[in-house]
Amino acid sequence: MFIGAHLSISKGFKATVMLAHEIGANTFQFFTRNPRGSKAKALDDKDLADSMSLRREYGFGPLVAHTPYTINLGASNPDTWEFAVSTLKDDLIRAEKVGALLVVHPGSHGGQGIEYGLSRVVDGLNRALADSGENLLLLEAMSGQGNEVGSTFEELNQLMQGVKKRGRVGIALDTCHLYGAGYDLKNDLDGVLASFDRKIGLKYLHALHINDSETMLGSHRDRHANLGNGSLGMEFFAKVVKNPVFKQIPLILETPDDSEQSHHKREIEFLKKNSR
Ligand SMILES: [Zn+2]
Ligand SMILES: [Zn+2]
Repeated sequence: MFIGAHLSISKGFKATVMLAHEIGANTFQFFTRNPRGSKAKALDDKDLADSMSLRREYGFGPLVAHTPYTINLGASNPDTWEFAVSTLKDDLIRAEKVGALLVVHPGSHGGQGIEYGLSRVVDGLNRALADSGENLLLLEAMSGQGNEVGSTFEELNQLMQGVKKRGRVGIALDTCHLYGAGYDLKNDLDGVLASFDRKIGLKYLHALHINDSETMLGSHRDRHANLGNGSLGMEFFAKVVKNPVFKQIPLILETPDDSEQSHHKREIEFLKKNSR
């Protein structure tokens, strides 16, 4: 299994691989650039090469890169939308160099309506994917806060259907977002996965964010909690890691932590123990 956490790459990729290994992880997620800012640091080729040989030595699975929260492919404002497209394109190229899947939040329609949002996001995805390598882009399933696009399997499927390069897109699920969106995976994990399989296809599922939720089923809010401190609970996460659907894809914790990563270390230990 591939289990990891969202980590800062401020000390470089090699240092982050070492940190991930120390906390028992064999993958990690990172922001392609400052989550609120826009400027990406140039990749250090030596650091990247060193990190890749360490990843091989430690038997790491695929890494997961995450675009900044600030980009919005659903924006009606042309400048905001163009900025989102060019950032996404640039991040696709960077993630491919690092050997990471890239996760993006589909976007927000800003009050223009869901159909507008869906077609605007599709246009943006097609533009960004047009000439940006071969890397796989994962659309993240959202909790449906405000005007968020992509909080139901139907909407995600509509986005996927609109993408011309079908082989370049997949889905990243998030236990907290799904619960917030109204999918009761706590009581019926198999039912939710069967519905995903019917509406999108399990072969398109390439990553899972593994977070407990501070809020209730169908709250349409996105508040991550440490495993066991939210409404999903430990018993649920023990079930997740036993499910064969999640044995081949990176499982990434995005739960609160201190600088020593002590929560992540404990959570990874729990997940690994229960996966057997
Ligand atoms: Zn995300
Ligand atoms: Zn979230």
